[in-house]
Amino acid sequence: MQNYKNFIDGEWVDSSDGKTFENRNPAKLDDVLGTFPLATVGDVERAIDAANAALPAWANMPAPNRGAILDKVSRILDARMGEIATVLTREEGKTLAEATGEVTRARDIFRYHSGEGWRAGGAVIPSNTNGELLYTRREPLGVVALVTPWNFPIAIPAWKMAPALAYGNTVVFKPASFTPQTALMLIEALIEAGIPKGVVNFVTGSGRTVGDTLVGSPKVHGVSFTGSVSVGMGIYEKAMKNLTRVQLEMGGKNPTIVLKDANIDTAVKMTVAGGFGLTGQACTATSRVIVEESIADEYAKAMVAAARSLKVGNGLEGGVQMGPAVSQDQLQTDLEYIGIGQKEGAKLLVGGSQAGDGGYYVQPTVFDHVESQMRIGQEEIFGPVISIIRAKDFEDALAKANGIGFGLAAAVITNDLQKAFQFANRIDAGVVKINEPTTGLALQAPFGGFKHSSANTFKEQGQAAIEFYTRTKTIYVGHG
Ligand code: NAP
Ligand code: MG
Repeated sequence: MQNYKNFIDGEWVDSSDGKTFENRNPAKLDDVLGTFPLATVGDVERAIDAANAALPAWANMPAPNRGAILDKVSRILDARMGEIATVLTREEGKTLAEATGEVTRARDIFRYHSGEGWRAGGAVIPSNTNGELLYTRREPLGVVALVTPWNFPIAIPAWKMAPALAYGNTVVFKPASFTPQTALMLIEALIEAGIPKGVVNFVTGSGRTVGDTLVGSPKVHGVSFTGSVSVGMGIYEKAMKNLTRVQLEMGGKNPTIVLKDANIDTAVKMTVAGGFGLTGQACTATSRVIVEESIADEYAKAMVAAARSLKVGNGLEGGVQMGPAVSQDQLQTDLEYIGIGQKEGAKLLVGGSQAGDGGYYVQPTVFDHVESQMRIGQEEIFGPVISIIRAKDFEDALAKANGIGFGLAAAVITNDLQKAFQFANRIDAGVVKINEPTTGLALQAPFGGFKHSSANTFKEQGQAAIEFYTRTKTIYVGHG
């Protein structure tokens, strides 16, 4: 078994007190991928100091030169695609096809941001006097802490790290404890591409110790976090004490509205992809399907057949369409919510139990007659559980879709152009899909939620990422 290390100030190091944790395969519980350091407060402080020391030289490197390193990272990810995707499936559980899609995305994110070196600039603003040049200059924010979840163990780190580095920031990166190896492979690619010492530091270990130290440090200038609402809210409170810039992207309870004119096959295809793809473990997963009453029976019947036909198993095996829950805890949460739904009086149509053995498998599950105020209609489960909520008409469906604390992604299935645009304009969600699954994002477009799905501060991805990762200086040059 391999003992992996942290990467601090350009060196691979163990935790200073020698403690480690195990990384296990959720599809095959006797498969241990390796051990990782449980970093101490002192280790994290060293990583923060290294990032501060490396900052001036990295920030002053011409942006196209930084971009050249990102371009190399992209090519290394491409060359190691199969190897990284296999590790991703082994530690997180998603199918190899899903994992390959994710690594491809990380590769493309680095390729996209490598070009930012040539593009990102300031603005020249008309002056109100002659003989004055008035302009803005984008500067890196400084040292940024990146704290990421397990469900996209390379794409999310990539979409934070690539813009952070492109705009001249240095990084301390803390991956989720369920998926440290995929994250480490990204660090290996950065090292191979020639990232200078101290620019990227990698610390694994408990969210409480590593995360808290990063978030509470006055030497960290920005925190970009993706994860649960409860952890995110704690981070916000803590970071505010130092006025540290914060970006939080958190949970969802994403609706798809199926209107009565919808093609049932399309509706099933989109909601199966959104709800059961990635084992329902996506922040943008479809978990509420709000269906107009007149077609609800027909839709529900087709969903039962679709859920029954999905092959659940080890994501490394051919033909498997849905992998396991990531952990014993997540499996327990899924099963608990299924029990809660039954107690609340929703009708369990299909699934509802553990599936197979040797891993944390759960059946694709569909509830019908869910009332929108029930807990299974309001709370994020993060598993393959779809709640069908029946609606009288479009207005009722929209009210139900919006009647919730989250606002990440939302979809409508319809060919009615007028209603589709009404939905786009009136839904409280940061990502809106028409005749597409709630999941799936373009890396070049802004991404972020509304309401409690986000801190509502800065968007991620595409050119929007520049707002979080830079600060703007305004310069007045009197030359008259
Ligand atoms: P989580 O439990 O909130 O953990 C996220 C990260 O925060 C992990 O690296 C975790 O470390 C760390 N952490 C834990 N406690 C911390 C603390 N006190 N201070 C600082 N960091 C701390 O979330 P998760 O279970 O990994 O991921 C699932 C959640 O992520 C879901 O709610 C999902 O909706 C959300 N998510 C949102 C998006 C989005 O873009 N909106 C995308 C994907 C996922 P450990 O792993 O060591 O505990
Ligand atoms: Mg967790």
